[in-house]
Parts: sequence; structure tokens; C-alpha cells
Amino acid sequence: SRWVYSFGGGGADGDASMKNLLGGKGANLAEMSSLGLPVPPGFTITTEACTHYYSNDKQYPAELKEQVAVGLATVEKLTGKTFGDTANPLLVSVRSGARASMPGMMDTVLNLGLNDATVEGLAKLSGDRRFAFDSYRRFIQMYSNVVLDLDHHMFEEILDEHKERLDVTVDTALTAEDWEKVVADYKAAVQQELGQAFPQDPHAQLWGAVGAVFASWMNDRAKFYRRMHDIPESWGTAVNVQSMVFGNMGDSSATGVAFTRNPSTGEARLYGEFLINAQGEDVVAGIRTPQALTKIAREEMGEKAPSMEEALPEVFTQFKAVVDKLEKHYRDMQDIEFTVEQGRLYMLQTRNGKRTAKAALKVAVDLASEGLITKEEAVMRVEPASLDQLLHPTIDPASPRDVITTGLPASPGAATGKIVFSSDEAERLGSSGEAVILVRDETSPEDIHGMHAARGIVTARGGMTSHAAVVARGMGRPCVSGAGELQIDGKAGELRVRGRTFKAGEIITIDGSKGEILAGTVKMIEPELTGDFATLMEWADKTRRLKVRANAETPLDARTARQFGAEGIGLCRTEHMFFDEDRIAAVREMILADDEAGRRAALAKILPMQRNDFVELFTIMEGLPVTIRLLDPPLHEFLPHTEADLQAVAEATGLDAAKLMRRAKELHETNPMLGHRGCRLGVSYPEIYEMQVRAIFEAACEIAESGKTAPIPEIMHPLVAKGEEMRFLRQLTDKTAQAVLKERGRTIDYQVGTMVELPRAAIRAGDLAENAEFFSFGTNDLTQTTFGISRDDSGRFLGAYLEKGIFEKDPFVSLDQDGVGDLIRIAAERGRAVRPNVKLGICGEHGGDPASIEFCERVGLDYVSCSPFRVPIARLAAAQAAV
Ligand code: PEP
Ligand code: MG
Repeated sequence: SRWVYSFGGGGADGDASMKNLLGGKGANLAEMSSLGLPVPPGFTITTEACTHYYSNDKQYPAELKEQVAVGLATVEKLTGKTFGDTANPLLVSVRSGARASMPGMMDTVLNLGLNDATVEGLAKLSGDRRFAFDSYRRFIQMYSNVVLDLDHHMFEEILDEHKERLDVTVDTALTAEDWEKVVADYKAAVQQELGQAFPQDPHAQLWGAVGAVFASWMNDRAKFYRRMHDIPESWGTAVNVQSMVFGNMGDSSATGVAFTRNPSTGEARLYGEFLINAQGEDVVAGIRTPQALTKIAREEMGEKAPSMEEALPEVFTQFKAVVDKLEKHYRDMQDIEFTVEQGRLYMLQTRNGKRTAKAALKVAVDLASEGLITKEEAVMRVEPASLDQLLHPTIDPASPRDVITTGLPASPGAATGKIVFSSDEAERLGSSGEAVILVRDETSPEDIHGMHAARGIVTARGGMTSHAAVVARGMGRPCVSGAGELQIDGKAGELRVRGRTFKAGEIITIDGSKGEILAGTVKMIEPELTGDFATLMEWADKTRRLKVRANAETPLDARTARQFGAEGIGLCRTEHMFFDEDRIAAVREMILADDEAGRRAALAKILPMQRNDFVELFTIMEGLPVTIRLLDPPLHEFLPHTEADLQAVAEATGLDAAKLMRRAKELHETNPMLGHRGCRLGVSYPEIYEMQVRAIFEAACEIAESGKTAPIPEIMHPLVAKGEEMRFLRQLTDKTAQAVLKERGRTIDYQVGTMVELPRAAIRAGDLAENAEFFSFGTNDLTQTTFGISRDDSGRFLGAYLEKGIFEKDPFVSLDQDGVGDLIRIAAERGRAVRPNVKLGICGEHGGDPASIEFCERVGLDYVSCSPFRVPIARLAAAQAAV
């Protein structure tokens, strides 16, 4: 078989489509060569040779030697130089090149082919003895390090001794003779370390380097990088052997890197830097300050050193043309390496450039506007999850960070504020306009007001779907959860972490995208929702089939949702409306009531407030569908938890403290998430659900009567398991709705449906569909109940599962498509069999996760519903899923 592919001289054996075989670098070198661009001739040893090497006890394929010899002969012919020739030596670089770029992870050897004889040839040929010996010493150092496994410090020490002796500080001050002496010392050091001479045979050098590149595929750095980026070990790396060109051959020589557009802003302008009289590693090493490529960039930076455009105007013109051609050819922003050898341009690499989210957006929109790609392609070019970076204020990457500790990146964005330890304090300071960060061991529904008032939230406990995380994401508040090192001492009003103490009122900053907590203030960048963002979203909306709704209950969330393009509310969690200050007393009174009459009396107080909530929500949503979920959590969540709280509530409400306490004890459940919650509340206390349904319909009538567009309420019952449950809830809902409509003399379209949050509900979806006009998959609970893993406590052990590879992803973040997904598929199928037009949606956290959205598209759901701040992500992900 074929293991070696040549390129150069205006042609190539391979092309850009062969990345799997030739690696990214090799495939693009071949492509550039075929395009007629100036590429130094060379050849690529395939990734298959690497795989063969590892699956055959580190033996090269039998034909490899011969094919490399042919490849080398071709390079000799194209360059007119001969490998190992003392008069006109061919020198080569040997570089790795995997399918996916793994920057800096594997090894490279430059200037290979130099020895005591060929260095003289190079000196004569170049007319520059200093250059020749400088190259030779670089080669010895690199080869010794990469191939012979000698520590590079040894060589640096030798060089430092010479500089000291000569009393100079910079490398450029060394003369040809100085470098000759350095070379002699380097060789002596190798001899001493290894007991044998530095290899003089260029062919031995070549095979040594090829072996080292293959070996570097298995070094720790490369293994780690592969694990981080899901790159399979089986891919292997290619080896690129390419004739050397020299950017260090005097002042008409240079080397540099360029992006065809700015990789951090996306601005459509050549961007990059170069160094005169230097080799590639000098640019990276940061010893000398590189110069700008263009005059305008130099002027903007206020630099004195001339740009490439000014220093090498002719080559620059040629370079600019090549770069433009490459971008047009690849139809994407390119990341380019080049060298100028004595006024002649050579292209060493091109690839699609890595970029920030902001740049990705701008480049995609610009390329489509320039007609280089279609709008649909532009939609595919932006990673949906990356939009998160654009929707929240973020920390300026250039700003220094004093990281106190880290936790989970529970809700993206950054915020700065004073530390507060209680929700009441957060509300008090927040309402007077102070920026605060709420720091808690964990949060509960009681903390909603504090979370709302805070700019950001930190918890010491809890996972990615803990209360704090879910609510923070919903509100668009940055949140770091599960920062386990934090010791929060509310009494002392301080938190301790890693030997530092922070008092209440001290300023911290949180980075919810990274899960970091930082001391003090940090510079921020504000989000921008118009311009390119709006354009790409418009294109995405034209492409997608899935509707996108938001999970929202407060007016603020509903407005945010609409601003982000939500097409309705997919989940209004009414329990959040029970905590407001004006009604929590009535809610508690209702819970404490001894009998139905007592409950009804308290519910009558809540009714007008609930009605107003819905009026507000319907008004904001202007006729869009609004799915309202009736009360779901166990009732004890509404009661105060500590004795002191209890006492305070008793005083404030005039309720009897002892009775309050007794009732709280009665309501205690061993396993509340599987206890008296969801529609079970509606079954045991129908009057609660009746009040809620009444509030919804009275609100809907009020809207209709005021001449505004009537809403389409969708009444949703939580935690339903059985067809009979659904029948009971349906009757309750219809009866109450009809009563209100009759009183008002109106007709209003509405639907009654259910959440699917229990395996039984999914399996018996046909039974449910008899009385449910829609299903909304509550995948938070469905994941919890399918796995039997508590969504609130999973953080304690899921880490071990992820580390051991038992779970690939947190199933509460990205849908378990095999297990939970199968239940969704089954429910969709069985539900549709009974009611063909049953409307299907998802409202768990997964509704905002791109991979899960792709799944929803495949099973043909009608909509996804997610936190307001994830709506744009869902719109883009839905569009990509549809393509
Ligand atoms: C769910 O269970 O997926 C859901 C959306 O409901 P909640 O998160 O309120 O339990
Ligand atoms: Mg639920």
C-alpha cells in the first residue's frame, strides 16, 4: 500500500479532502501546492503508517523505507539540492500533523540534514557562515531534545556560558566563530551524555526524527489533549517532511503568522505578525517583539518598527494576493504560516482559524454577505453553545484574575458585587441599587427574591441542576455552584477559603462561564444583541422547524424571553408565584388550614394576586401560547425551616407558632421528590388547582375584555403517572374553566395537557393522551426518575462516574438519548397513536442544550422550551438540527 504522498512544484498526490490520511497540515500543503502557491516541496507519511507502527509492535510498514526514498528523491529533483550533499545540501523540517490540530502537543525538528560537512556547504551556498552555524546549533539542540531525549537546559546553559564569556546578552551578537565554538561544545555535551557522537548521517537523522514524531503521538501532553478534545488515539499522526526555507538569511528574510481576519473580533482585515531574519520558533518564543503585517495595524498599535507592508513591500503584495486566494478557496478565515527567504515567499501552512464566539459570528455573517458561503452555511458555522459568551457581560480576557476558588460553571456570564449571605440582605441592598453577590451554602425557593436582587449567585453545595443553578440560568444571573472549598460563616458574616477571609460587603466577581470566583472587580465586556447577532438569528429562524419557547414566570423573564425571540412560554412554574411577599402569608395559612373550608378561605385571598400575575404575563406574551403548570412542589417548601424563621412568621401573620411548628413537622416527608407533590396535590386538595385554573381564566377573560389579543392558555398538570389521574385533572380543569367562561359569557380557546416526567407516564402515554392535548417532557424529573438519581444530590457522585467514563456527560445537562430518550420516543409514538395531533414539547433543562435539541428534532417534537437566556442558543441549534 501507499504510505507516502508528495507535494510541491505546482502539484501534489493528495488534496484538502484527505485530512484523515494526511493530517490537516499535510492535506492543506498538498492543496496549496496544487493551487500553484509557493510551497516548499516535501512529502507526507500517512496517519495509517503511524497506526500500523503502533499496531505492529512499533515496526514501520515494509514498503515505507523505499517510498520515503522515492519521496526524498522527488524533493531533491524539485529543489535541485541533494540530501547529505556537501556542496549543495538539502535540509528538511520534520513535523507532526494529526487530523485535528493539536497545537504544540507533538514534536518538530527543523534544519535536519546538517552535519559537520553539510554545514560548510550551507555556509558557502548562502555566503553566510554565521547563518550556517547558527542553524546547525539550533538543529543539534532541537534534535537532541526531541529525538535523543536530552534536556534542553543543558544547551541553554552552554550558550549562556558563551555569552558570559563574550560579555554579550543577545544571540544576535554572536559571530560565526562564536557559533562554531557553541556547536563544538554542544556536540561534546551530547557525546558525554550519551557515550556516542551526535548522529552525522542525514538518513539516520531523518529516521530518528520520523520515529520521534510517531512517539510524540503517545506522549503525556498529546494523550491529555486528546482526552480533553475527544480525539481518538486510533487516528494517529502523519509526518510531514519538507524542504527547509530560511527566514533567518538576512534582512530580506522573515517568518510570520497571519489570520485572514481578526480571530478575536472577526474584523475583515489581515491580522498577524512577523519577524525579520528569524526562524519560526523565534516568533513563538517571544524573545523578540514581532512586528505588524500591515501599515494600518502598525499605526493603530503605535509601533515604530516597520510593518511587513513597509519593510518588504513587494513580497507583501504577493503575500496579500495569496492570502486572499486561500480564503476564497477554503471559504473560511485562514490561519497561515509563512516564510520569506531572501525576498521569496513560501507558504508553510494554512488551516481554518480558531476564533472567539464574537469573531465566529461576524466572520459567518460577513462571508455570507460577501457571497462566499450561503446563509445556511453561515448558520452552521457558529457553535450554538458559544452564543452564551455573547449574551451576558463577560470578563475581559486581558484583565488579570485573582481566583479565590472554583466551583461549577452553573450559569454563564460574569458579575461583580458585594458579598451578602442572606436573601433578605440581598433584597435590601439590591433594592437600594447596590450590586450584590448572594453567597449561600445552597438555595431554596425561599431565596428567589434574594437571587433576583443579586447580580450573581454562589453556592458551596449543589450541582448543575441544583435549585440555584436552574433558577439562576432562568433569570440569566451568573452562578457558580458547588464551590466546595468555601466555608460560609453567616453568623460571623464572613467566608473562608484557602486561608483567605472575605467579609460581608467585600467585593467579589464571579465568572459563571468558567466557574471561577475572583477577588475584587474585574473589567467587563457588555453583550451586543443587534447587528451580526440579529442577522444570523434571522437566518436561523428561516431554517428551523422546531418552535422555541421559554421557561418563564416573572414579567422580567417573560420580557427577556421575547426580546431573545421566544415564541411563547413553554413552562410557567406557578410555585414561584407563591413566594412573593404579598401572598406568602396567605399560602402558609392555606397550608396550615385544618380543613377544606379553611383552605378555601385562604385560597380566596391568593386568587386575585394569581389573576394579576397571569394578566401581566398574558399582556407581555400578546397572544402567544402560554403553558401554565399548576402547583408542583411539596407544600413544606413554603413553610419556614428554622425555629427563628417560624417565630418570625408567626408574629408577622398572627398565626399560632406552635401550630405552625406542628404542621411543618406533619408535612415532613422522607423522600419529598417522590412524595406529596405534583398533581397529587391537585388530587388531594382539588381546591388549590381550581383556584389556579380560575385565576388563569379570569385573567384571560380580562385580557379579552380589554380588547387585547386573547392568550391561548395551556393548562399543564405536573407529575402525572396514570390515565385515570389525567382524566380526573382534565375534568377538574374543564369544569372550572367552563364555570368562569359561563360567568363571563365568553369563549376562549385553551388546551389541557400534562408533563411527562415519570417512566410510567411515558410508557402509558396512550392512556394520558386520551385526556391530554399536549405533552411536555419534563426531562429534569424524567432523568431523575429514570435513573433513580436525585437531581439535587447527583453532584456528590456524578464526578466519579464522569471521570471513570461510565457517564460521558452529565445526564441532567445533556439528555441521555438511549435511556431517557427512548422513553421520549415511546411516549411520542404511543401518544400520537391515540391522539395524532397531540402537541409535543420539552421543558426540562435539556430544552436549551444543543445536542438534546438535535434529538428533539429527530423525534419530531413540536417545540423546545428553555431558560430565556438560552433561547437564542436553542434557535440556532434547532436550525442546525434541521439542516
Ligand atoms: C422537569 O422536571 O423537567 C421540569 C421542567 O419541572 P421542574 O424542573 O420544575 O421539576
Ligand atoms: Mg418536574
